[in-house]
Amino acid sequence: MSGDSKEFWGPNILICITGASRGFGRAIVKTIAEHLIEVLKMQPDNLTFLVTARSSTLLSELKNDLLSTFGIKNVEVISGSIEGSDTLQNLHHSMEKLRDNNNFDHVMLIHNAATIGDPSKKTDQYTVENMKELDEYARINMSSMIILTGSFIKIFKRIAKVNIINISSLVAFQALEGLSIYGAYKAARDNFMKCVAHENASIKVLNYAPGPLQTDMLETVRSQGYLAQLFKDGSILTPDQSAKKMILLLERNTYENGAHVDYFELE
Ligand code: NAP
Repeated sequence: MSGDSKEFWGPNILICITGASRGFGRAIVKTIAEHLIEVLKMQPDNLTFLVTARSSTLLSELKNDLLSTFGIKNVEVISGSIEGSDTLQNLHHSMEKLRDNNNFDHVMLIHNAATIGDPSKKTDQYTVENMKELDEYARINMSSMIILTGSFIKIFKRIAKVNIINISSLVAFQALEGLSIYGAYKAARDNFMKCVAHENASIKVLNYAPGPLQTDMLETVRSQGYLAQLFKDGSILTPDQSAKKMILLLERNTYENGAHVDYFELE
């Protein structure tokens, strides 16, 4: 098991992740670091993270934590709103620089950042007054991930092993009151990723639905009375629990390229 796991990650890996400051993104970073350094005994210098989100304070804390807990020195931080052209350009340049100054065997991009929108609004409440809000939602949740994917593929096309992971949701397939816009873009992201897999057979693509997680996003949804039924059965997971399962899924590598896999489908 450990031999297969080591083979999956390879000797020198770069992990680029959006929305790394808190919630599931932060848990993914910490869980991967713990798995590679403490379980698989990888040398910390052979693991590089590129982390992004708006909060520079939380990203700096994460960077310090990775150094003090795991000895990981190679952590690039880009702070800014993901829909801004300047943030996307900074990410592009940072990835180019990382490629030029390193000899990666494996690169991974994790599209984790997302916003829930306004769950108090039902479908008949969107009017022309909401055009600006909807445009901004599209830029944060869709356009930015398309542009970042394009940059990543162009920059790393010669690397032997490439993974792209889109953090999806059950809501990509299931209608829930108040989550129409969120669900619509989750479905669109899944389909975009299927096209990435279709056009690039050498890139392994996964749409991972992490299950209901105890994060700020879940608290925003929970605050809507009509969604109370969602939170009745005690099935809410910690972000770490779901991150561990995602790692297992990646290492097993038995999913079809571009597949949507839900936390609850896995043993
Ligand atoms: P969260 O607690 O709200 O965290 C969202 C992350 O995205 C934060 O790091 C935030 O950082 C970043 N972010 C938000 N707006 C941004 C912007 N404009 N530019 C750059 N970064 C931005 O959400 P979460 O629950 O961890 O969700 C993570 C992923 O899991 C999302 O894709 C979500 O759809 C998915 N998911 C969550 C659940 C759940 O139950 N929580 C269930 C299914 C799927 P800053 O604020 O620092 O920018």
